Amino acid sequence: MNHFEYGPEGLACEGVALARIAAEVGTPVYVYSRATLERHFTVFRDALVAAGVVDPLVAYAVKANSNVAVLKVLGDLGAGADTVSEGEVRRALAAGIPPERIVFSGVGKARREIAFALKTGVAEINVESEPELNLIAEVAAELGVRAKVAFRVNPDVAAGGHAKIATGKSENKFGVSFAEAARLYANASNNANLEPVGVACHIGSQITDLTPMREAFSKMRGLVEQLLGEGLSVQRLDLGGGLGVPYFNHPEPPSPADFAAMVGEVTKGLPVKLAFEPGRVIAANAGVMVSEVIHVHARPEGRKFLVIDAAMNDLVRPAMYDAFHDIRPVVKRPESQKGGETVYDVVGPVCETGDTFTRDRVLPPLAAGDLVAFMSAGAYGSAMASEYNTRPLVPEVLVDGDRYAVIRKRPTYEEMLARDLVPDWV
Ligand SMILES: *Cc1c(COP(=O)(O)O)cnc(C)c1O
Repeated sequence: MNHFEYGPEGLACEGVALARIAAEVGTPVYVYSRATLERHFTVFRDALVAAGVVDPLVAYAVKANSNVAVLKVLGDLGAGADTVSEGEVRRALAAGIPPERIVFSGVGKARREIAFALKTGVAEINVESEPELNLIAEVAAELGVRAKVAFRVNPDVAAGGHAKIATGKSENKFGVSFAEAARLYANASNNANLEPVGVACHIGSQITDLTPMREAFSKMRGLVEQLLGEGLSVQRLDLGGGLGVPYFNHPEPPSPADFAAMVGEVTKGLPVKLAFEPGRVIAANAGVMVSEVIHVHARPEGRKFLVIDAAMNDLVRPAMYDAFHDIRPVVKRPESQKGGETVYDVVGPVCETGDTFTRDRVLPPLAAGDLVAFMSAGAYGSAMASEYNTRPLVPEVLVDGDRYAVIRKRPTYEEMLARDLVPDWV
């Protein structure tokens, strides 16, 4: 469920018409619903609790949507943060999320990032390889601390979905092999600068079938039992993120309740705390990207290009993952309700053929100046945006009931150009 519905002034986010935001802030622009963010987080956590999971740590995956205001909305509800860079740890801290709810993940943490995380006192650093474990031990020794580490294990399970977002097979770069996890855990337990606190897995994103998750989680349960059986201390099992969301035409994903029931079953009686790292399921359907039609270019051969003022630099998912976003007219014209639909290729202004949001999409007739909303754009949308083609970084707006605020402003061209430095010898 989300809070984007048609009202008297067209499509609205909660109590604010998207047309009003477009007029006042300009386009393209991302718009997020606070009520939807809160609802998604609460539904996810409450489902776990209802399934018997005691006091889960729900560490929202910051990379899905890393705006500090979004992090604060979630942090105020008790969310932790799953982070993959020093920058993301800093964002979580800026949002008031306490270090003991911050998990630091990522395949290649730099020495200075590890030092920062240790000084911050994050809940756990998720270790992805043996060389990284050694580096963490070294940095911890230098700082004279004991690093809390959890081993991200690659359970060698195929998660389905797009190959670019599957992470749980041994051929992927993520995590230590299942076969070496127990040995590394035992070694780390004997290192004065390391404190292994648990094991973690994350097998992919936009997962719409619980079967691979159940398989991975069962393997993780087995590993925890093995470690406990060897007399090692295991406090936490982190089951990652990855639960899919409905992108309109995709298979209906399992609900948080289905997911939680499966987790409850697989982990029943396991004497460790559980952690989760949901990103997309919290943020995707809490946001839209609004764009204005620049013009309609109809070729004599037949194709109609809807050229809009948003591009792949603002929303890269279609270009990068062949992702589908439902596109809706912000204001429905009367004729659109009587059929009269048109087939468009929706494209942006960037000089790349990949800057095509969709081909052959059936939409109501649209004209220059009309607004369209890309639905389900709250996750991996603005967070992946760039300034390619020297297009100002897309701004973000947060709606709360009948008020809204710009939570990241569009940079001016002066600000953008001021970042470039021309040496006096050029
Ligand atoms: C990306 C990522 C997540 C979040 O994945 P979603 O599909 O957005 O839920 C969680 N954990 C790790 C380690 C990740 O890399």
